[in-house]
Amino acid sequence: MHPVSSVLYRINKLELHNMQKNWLSLWIILVGAFVAVIGSAGAVYAQANADWTEPFPPFKIAGNLYYVGSKGLANYLITTPEGHILINSDLEENVSLIRASIESLGFKFTDIKILLISHAHWDHNAASDTIKKLTGAKYMVMEADVSVVESGGKTDFQYGNVPAARYTPTKVDRVLHDGDEVRLGGAVLVAHLTPGHTKGCTTWTMKAQEAGQTYNVVIIGSPNVNPGYRLVNNAAYPTIAADYEKMFRVLKSLPCDIFLGAHGGYFDLETKYARLKKSGLAAFVDPEGYKKFVTDKEQAFKTELAKQRSAPGK
Ligand SMILES: [Zn+2]
Repeated sequence: MHPVSSVLYRINKLELHNMQKNWLSLWIILVGAFVAVIGSAGAVYAQANADWTEPFPPFKIAGNLYYVGSKGLANYLITTPEGHILINSDLEENVSLIRASIESLGFKFTDIKILLISHAHWDHNAASDTIKKLTGAKYMVMEADVSVVESGGKTDFQYGNVPAARYTPTKVDRVLHDGDEVRLGGAVLVAHLTPGHTKGCTTWTMKAQEAGQTYNVVIIGSPNVNPGYRLVNNAAYPTIAADYEKMFRVLKSLPCDIFLGAHGGYFDLETKYARLKKSGLAAFVDPEGYKKFVTDKEQAFKTELAKQRSAPGK
């Protein structure tokens, strides 16, 4: 999920500055901001994340690894002679986009044998039940996210009571643990438990072969501390801060050539895709970008943790 409140805050701050002498305008802005904040979570998220359902051209990243996601929600297809692995199912509205992307690359949507997710949030897993029914794929999820997935989001520590964050409860066929391998037709993906954003947030790694070279691929689950997340005194997730710390340790330990993630924004999908035609795979080989992203996100986490520790009740 993308932070929404910070955007609203910035917009309102700017407007307040320009109109501080006009009290009528100020009053209107405050009412507008209030309505925006208390308005249904679904409407706010949908407005702020129009790119989630915006089509994006599918393309080969390297070897048997393809991008088949939308502009804002990333999906990856790993093809093999024995069928395919799909990472993330996204929202129900995304299924037809994912299908069209897979078919335009010349593969069959119904050949998806295994469905994986980045983490148990609706923007990455709401359509899992639909995709399972359409393809017969086996759904494999990290243990700590299984109850959230099978309850349709109800047991999520943060969004369990948010109607817009709910989806069709989906049966998990294989429960994954940290370090487990998912194998199909010669492809091997490794599931790394990178918790905090969700309890079972998963970073996937694999090796991609291209032109005689082997590349380490890292698909980050999510390092973000969402607006409203309590890092201290969180009864619904007591180990949250220690889990984020573990996640950053894991991310920093992973060798990375090709840097990917659950949202295109993590790794600057649009810029890299624009460079792809000219530079080929080199556009996506970005070990320094990976390190910088992880370092920046760790700093953001540390800043937020320090803030909450100094004012734990707020
Ligand atoms: Zn999320």
